[in-house]
Order: sequence, then structure tokens, then C-alpha cells
Amino acid sequence: MANIIDGKLIAAELKKSCLDRAQRLIRDGIIPKLDVIIVGDDPASHQYVNSRADDCKAIGMDSTVHVLPTNTVQSELIELIEGLNNDSSVHGILLQMPLPKHMNSEEVIAHISMEKDVDGLHPANIGALVSGKPAFAPCTPCSIMQLIKSTGVDITGKNAVVVGRSNVVGRPAAMLLLKENATVTICHSRTSVLKEHTLNADILVAAVGAPRLITGDMVKPGAVVIDAGINRENGKTVGDVDFESVQHIAGYISPVPGGVGPVTRTILLMNTLEACERLHGRI
Ligand code: NAP
Repeated sequence: MANIIDGKLIAAELKKSCLDRAQRLIRDGIIPKLDVIIVGDDPASHQYVNSRADDCKAIGMDSTVHVLPTNTVQSELIELIEGLNNDSSVHGILLQMPLPKHMNSEEVIAHISMEKDVDGLHPANIGALVSGKPAFAPCTPCSIMQLIKSTGVDITGKNAVVVGRSNVVGRPAAMLLLKENATVTICHSRTSVLKEHTLNADILVAAVGAPRLITGDMVKPGAVVIDAGINRENGKTVGDVDFESVQHIAGYISPVPGGVGPVTRTILLMNTLEACERLHGRI
């Protein structure tokens, strides 16, 4: 039977270390601050950004949520971003996606200061990640790496298979695994026989958005299986991994819910603290 990777427990431990880091800065008169921008009135997105602001406040950090109406013109949004770039009391900027259809997301993201881009979306941060240099990476792939590392399994030399190649999850997860010296295969919707690849994985990451796509017969015995999928099915949240069958084959498995999700939230705090420490010359 697989060991269950407890995302809530890992998140609680990471949060404790965030609290220590935040308190150290606050003692020196520096209040780490994350500013969040949301355009539009999607209730789920509002709930998401407000909970991120609450996470900051819970450990003594500061956070402002900037709410803009759906019909905001792109230049106004860019003006706000540039104001935050120049505001030395702001250390991290989170721009909630998606933006309204009349905006060009890539153009807007490029205006976020790379040093404050704690969600790892800026092209310069993506470029640094691809070239194996230190950079802010998107929070979900960072969370995936935390879960893998929590198992104590040495990543170097392992076959890692990432199913999914989106810019926010699959692709950056593959880059982070490569940085840690795994031999990485990326699978996607055009992969001809998915099982041929997944059966070879010592570390298997599912980031697809297809309920229970990965079944026990697709998993190498003893593998580390990380499920980033979030799917709603019959009123329940399920992952991309068929937990029932895979738990009998894998060595480690992250559940959904309670795996990648809770740690992802904490990564945003960690990245904002890192941005603050860098901007104040602490690291
Ligand atoms: P996405 O942009 O829709 O990308 C899905 C990827 O899966 C694409 O690369 C797609 O291939 C691939 N794919 C689709 N069907 C496939 C199949 N049958 N076999 C192999 N590959 C297949 O989704 P995303 O934003 O990366 O999100 C992936 C999942 O992670 C979703 O369930 C999402 O809700 C979840 N998520 C979780 C968190 C978290 O914190 N836990 C955060 C963000 C997202 P193509 O490129 O060929 O289309």
C-alpha cells in the first residue's frame, strides 16, 4: 500500500517557517506585502484572491486586493501594475487569471516587475526556469516539487513522466524536475500510447484535468505519484489519478483533495517572502 503524501501537514510545516521568516523581517521594520489584482466579478476568483490575502495576514504580512471592473481598459491595468512595481512597500504582485477577453494577457504580464512576479508568469522568469537558472516558478509546479521532496526519494537520475504540458503546471513542473537531474518525459493529448511512458516513471506527475485518467495498470510499482488534477464529479472533487487502484501499486501518492492544493497556497507566501528578502538585500 502506498504512503499517502499529506499536503495539509506539509503546508502547515511550511507555513510555520513562513511565519518565522515574516516575523524576522517585521522585527527589522519590514512588512512583507503581496498585492493582488483581479479584473472582473467572477465569484470563485474573488474567493480565491481574498483567501490569498487572508493567508498573508494570518502570518503578519500585509496584502491589498485591487478590484477592477470587467470593462477596465488594458492601459489602466498596466498603469496600476507599474505603480505597484514602483511602490517599495509592495514585494509581490499576483495578477488573477484569466483576464477579460479584450485584454492581451501576455502583454499585461510582461509589465509585472520580474522581481515581484511571485506567480512566475513573466517571460523573463519563464526563460530563467527553462535555462535552469534561479527564478520564480508558478506555484502549482513548486508545490508538486515540495511533495516529491517530502518523500525523501532522490530525484537525481530518476525517470520522471509529466502528463500535461500547460504553461502553468505541466511544462514548468517538467523544467523543475530537469533542474533536479531527473530524466524527464512530457506527455500530452497527442501522446500515442500514454501507458508505455507512465509505466516507466519512477516519478509520475498528472496535470491534465481528466478524472481518474491514470489507473493502477499504468503505474510502475513503488513510483511516486503526484496528482495535480482538480475535477468536479458528482459533487465531489477528484484528481487525474484513480486513487483506489493506484494506491495499491505506487510507493507514494498525493490525494485529491489534500495533496498539491494546500501546499500551492503556501508557495505564494514563500515566494513573496523571498521577493521581500531579495528586494531588501537579505539574500
Ligand atoms: P490545461 O491547460 O487544460 O492542460 C491540460 C494538459 O493535459 C494539456 O497539455 C493537454 O494536452 C493534456 N491532456 C489532455 N488530455 C490528455 C490525455 N487524455 N492524455 C494526456 N494528456 C492530456 O490544464 P492545466 O491548467 O495544466 O491544469 C491541469 C489540471 O491541474 C486541472 O485539473 C487543473 O484544475 C489542475 N490545477 C491544479 C492546481 C492546484 O493547485 N492543485 C492549480 C492549477 C491547475 P495538449 O497540450 O495536447 O492539449
